Amino acid sequence: MKYISLVQVYEELDSTTKRLEKTYHIAKLLKDTPADSLEVITLLVQGRLFPAWDQTELGVASKLVVKAIELSTGNSKSKVENMWAKTGDLGGVAEQLLKSRRQLSLVQQHLTVEKVVSNLRKIATLEGFRSVDMKLKLIAEMLTCATPLEAKYITRTVLGDLRLGVGEGSLRDAIAWAFFAEDMEGLKSDDQAKRKELSEAVAKIQHAYDVTNDFGEVALLAKKKGLKGLGQVSISPGKPLKVMLAPKVSKIEEGFDRVGSPAEAEFKYDGFRMQVHKKDSKITLFTRRLEDVTKQFPDVVDSIRKHVKGDSFILDSEAVGYDSKTGKYLPFQNISQRIKRKYDIEELASRLPVELNVFDVLYFNGKSMIDLPFSERRAMIEKNVSAVKKRIRVAENIVTKSIEEMSAFYKKALSAGNEGLMLKKLDAVYKPGSRVGYMVKLKPVMDSLDLVIVGAEWGEGKRAKWLTSFTLACVDENGDFLEVGKVGTGIKELEEQGLTFGQLTEMLRPHILKESGREVIVKPKVVVEVMYDEIQKSPTYSSGFALRFPRVIQVRDDRSPKDASTLAQVEDYFFSQNK
Ligand code: AMP
Repeated sequence: MKYISLVQVYEELDSTTKRLEKTYHIAKLLKDTPADSLEVITLLVQGRLFPAWDQTELGVASKLVVKAIELSTGNSKSKVENMWAKTGDLGGVAEQLLKSRRQLSLVQQHLTVEKVVSNLRKIATLEGFRSVDMKLKLIAEMLTCATPLEAKYITRTVLGDLRLGVGEGSLRDAIAWAFFAEDMEGLKSDDQAKRKELSEAVAKIQHAYDVTNDFGEVALLAKKKGLKGLGQVSISPGKPLKVMLAPKVSKIEEGFDRVGSPAEAEFKYDGFRMQVHKKDSKITLFTRRLEDVTKQFPDVVDSIRKHVKGDSFILDSEAVGYDSKTGKYLPFQNISQRIKRKYDIEELASRLPVELNVFDVLYFNGKSMIDLPFSERRAMIEKNVSAVKKRIRVAENIVTKSIEEMSAFYKKALSAGNEGLMLKKLDAVYKPGSRVGYMVKLKPVMDSLDLVIVGAEWGEGKRAKWLTSFTLACVDENGDFLEVGKVGTGIKELEEQGLTFGQLTEMLRPHILKESGREVIVKPKVVVEVMYDEIQKSPTYSSGFALRFPRVIQVRDDRSPKDASTLAQVEDYFFSQNK
C-alpha cells in the first residue's frame, strides 16, 4: 500500500475536530484496507508502531529528528530550530522545508506503508554503540524519498506525536462502522434498531480490546470472523490485559450502595499493581501500564513459583515494599526505583524486598475466570496461594453487612499504614480496563492527584540548567490534557533529599516539543503524584480548576498519562472538600 494513501486520510483527520467525522474517515480507511495490511494500518492511524501491550519505544529524541531534517533538506540547524520554535511542530517544519528543497531527488520512489513501518521498527531495535547514527540514517533516508506531506507525518510518527486526536473511543467506533454498519452511517443513523445493533457491536469491540490491548488484532477479527469471533476473544496467560479500575467513594454507606450488601472489604495497600502470569512454567510480571517487569522482580517470581499452585494462571495483586532491616512497610515512593532498575537487581531486591498481596484471579489452569462471580474467584486464590510471611499472601479481608464492622476494619487498615479500603461486589465479574464500580476505593477525603507534566520552565541563576517549574494537567474523558496549575515545590536540588530537578529535567528532556524563551512544552509522558492544600475554581487553567500550594510527592513510573487523575475526579474532590 502506498504511504501517500494513508497520508491523505491523515490530512482528512487533521481537517476536522468533530469526533463523528474523524470516526467516519477512519472507518472508511479500515473498510478499504486489505486484510494483510489491516493490523499495521490500525496501528499507524493511532501513530503507533506496536500494539498497546508491547512496550517497545522508538527512543528518538527531537534533536535527532532536527538533524535528520537538516540532512535531508540541506538546511542549517539554526534554520530548522527557528522554524520549530515558531510553530512547535517539527512535522510542519519538515513539510515546509521539503517543499522548498531546491533539487528534488532524481529518482522519486514511492514510499510504501511497509517500507515506513519496517524502517521505523528497525529503529526501535537499535541499541548501543553507533545506534544514534543508524537511527539518523534511517530517518533521513525516509525523509529524502518522501513528498513534503509524507515527511510531515513520518516526522510526527517518529516523535510519537501524530496530533490527529484519534482516541481509543474513535477507533473502537470506527471498527464498528467499518465492519458492522452497512452504510457506515454509524451512530448518526436515525434507525433505532440499527443503532442498537451497532452499540452492541461497539461493546463487543471494546471488550475484545480490553482483553487483547491490540486494536489491530481486533480489527482483523472483526473483518474476518465478525461478531462471533470477537465474542470468542479470550484472555491468555503471557499476554497482559488491562486491569479493572476503581471509582472512589467517600463514605462507607456510599460504598455499600455501589457494591451491594454484604460486601467484601480488603486493605488498600500502598504499593503498585502487579499482574502475574504463568504459562508453561514461565512466569511474567506486568505493571498496571502493562510493562514487563519480570527481570526487576526475581524475588516475586520465586515466591510465585514456590507458593502458588496451578500450571497456568493470571493473578491480580498489589506489590508492597518493606525495609529488609526493620520489616516496616514502605510507601510506594520508596520502592518505585525497583520498577526501572536495570542493574544490581538482586542487591536492590534484598535491600527493598516486596510482599505480594494477591486479590484476584483472572485465569486458572486453561480457563478464563473473569466471568465468574468475585466470591468464587476469591475462594480460588485462598485455595491456591499459600501465605508466607513477608513474601506472599492473599489480601486481608472481611465480608460484612455491618457499617460498624466495616468502619472498624477501615480504622484497622489506616492504622496499619494502608491507604484505605477496597470494597468489592461479591457477585461481580471482572471487567478489564473498566471503572465499572464492581470495586470501589474508600480513602480519607484529602487525596493526592496523579497529574501529567505538559510544560515546564527553565530556572534562573544557579538553577538555569534545570527545569524548575512544571505545568500539570489532568485528563478528560476524550483523553485530552487540561491544565490544573504549576508546581515547583517538593522537588529538591540534592539527590539525598529525594526527587531532584536534575532527575526530572532528564526525564522530560527527550519529550520537549517546543521551547520559547524559558518556557518549554513537553509531550505528556511523565506522571507525578501531587498533594495540595485545596482545589479552587480558576479561569487561568483549561480545566477550570487550580491547586492551592501544590507539591510533588513522587514520580509515578507505574502510571501512563492516560491513567492520570481525570477531570471528573478533580471536580469530585473540589466538591467533596467543601462538604
Ligand atoms: P487508585 O490507585 O487510587 O486508583 O486505587 C486503585 C489501586 O489500588 C489499584 O490499581 C491497586 O493498584 C491498588 N490496590 C491496593 N490494594 C488493593 C486491593 N486489595 N484490591 C484492589 N486494588 C488494590
